[in-house]
Amino acid sequence: MSSSYKERIASRLTLVTSLIILVVFGVIYFVANLTVIDTIDRELGLETDKHKGQIFLVNGEIRFLHMDEWEEMEHSQIQLNPIFIEIVDLNGKSMDRSPNLRENHLSFSPEKSAKKEAWTLRLGASEVRQMQIPLITAGKQEGYLLVAKSFDDSRELLNNLRNVLLILYPGILLSLFLTMRYLAGKSIEPIQQIIRKTNQITQSNLNERVPLAEANDEIGQLTRSINELLERLEASLNREKQFTSDASHELRTPLSVLRGTLEVLIRKPRTAEEYVEKIKTSLSSIDRMSATIDQLLALAREEKGKNLVKEELELITFLEEIVDETASEQNRKITFQSQSGIPIYLKANEKSLQLILGNLLQNAIKYSKPETEIFVKTGLNVGTPYIEICDSGSGISKEYLEKIFDPFFREKEAVDQLVPGTGLGLAIVKKLAQESGIKVSVSSEKGKGSTFRLDFPNS
Ligand code: ADP
Repeated sequence: MSSSYKERIASRLTLVTSLIILVVFGVIYFVANLTVIDTIDRELGLETDKHKGQIFLVNGEIRFLHMDEWEEMEHSQIQLNPIFIEIVDLNGKSMDRSPNLRENHLSFSPEKSAKKEAWTLRLGASEVRQMQIPLITAGKQEGYLLVAKSFDDSRELLNNLRNVLLILYPGILLSLFLTMRYLAGKSIEPIQQIIRKTNQITQSNLNERVPLAEANDEIGQLTRSINELLERLEASLNREKQFTSDASHELRTPLSVLRGTLEVLIRKPRTAEEYVEKIKTSLSSIDRMSATIDQLLALAREEKGKNLVKEELELITFLEEIVDETASEQNRKITFQSQSGIPIYLKANEKSLQLILGNLLQNAIKYSKPETEIFVKTGLNVGTPYIEICDSGSGISKEYLEKIFDPFFREKEAVDQLVPGTGLGLAIVKKLAQESGIKVSVSSEKGKGSTFRLDFPNS
């Protein structure tokens, strides 16, 4: 089972801190050890210096400067602060030693005497620190003075320190882990509140929001991001609902016309002309429905921009063909103007571009008087191709310039004047253009006309 987030944080922090504490404890022990040894060695040095001036070896015999003092000192040193002394000849053979050594001998190590360095050794049951210096009489080395000091007290001190550190270590780690777990738990409490709240939000209460934390920290930002996401979800769900209701309304209207016409037809026998007329009305209702269904399908089709196949095409020839075809089909004067003296090559999905231009041209034709002219212009703007479709028709009110791209939006005027349409054309244009990376913009003046412009992406 995976551990909780607060446990993971607590154990990681504890692990890092435990390593730091381990190093700190190690340093403490190391410094204490050095200090203790240094103190003993300094005392040993003083002790050896003191005895050096009092003991002489003359022709293999020991002479004391103050024999009484030496004996007294040796006597007192047995009980109190034990200093062990041994005098050896050049070969390390013991010549005399302090009684507190009993049957033991100090260690003989001539190579260490020159540097006056001390070392630790075992002496019977206890541990001592020893130093060795040469005994020189009248410029001639006659033997060595070995001086040692008990290391037992210092060892006990160091052992106590080590034990305290070893007992403290797990204790500190445990309390550290518990404290960090508690603090980590406290700091993720707001996140748990967010989880609880977001778990409660479903489609039916999508208008609810996660309460905002006061502080503008990461948690506050997370809450804000979740709320913004909910906002977008709610808006998109509402758009979806609106779309479904508009779509069913759009299909229901021709269906009721069809039903009404057929009901009227079967009520009583009719003349052949009446039958033809009613069937024509029915067929136009069916045409309207199938046009709406086609456009709905075009809008709903999931075509990701990435999968769109783009081929190279020459824009001027491509536009000339479309303009000629539409002009003759619709019997309208459409003028094509190219502001570029050279052919314009670009990569585009031909089918998408045809649909976009088809919709824009249809609108230009539908929303302008038959005697007015329509212009299709193309050219290069800082190296990138553009197309403009201009009409001198009814124009679009400023307030609706963005709304016209919403599915099913139609200006009241278009509905009132019974201009055929579903309000889906520009939504399809917007979707297809987005897929191909084309920017669609519109400028229009009520009563004067409109210009729809397509700016192609840099290829
Ligand atoms: P439809 O033409 O089927 O109504 P569109 O989505 O193509 O749907 O257009 C939405 C609305 O935008 C139209 O109903 C109309 O009010 C307005 N519109 C679009 N093109 C033009 C244009 N060239 N001139 C004036 N109004 C336009």
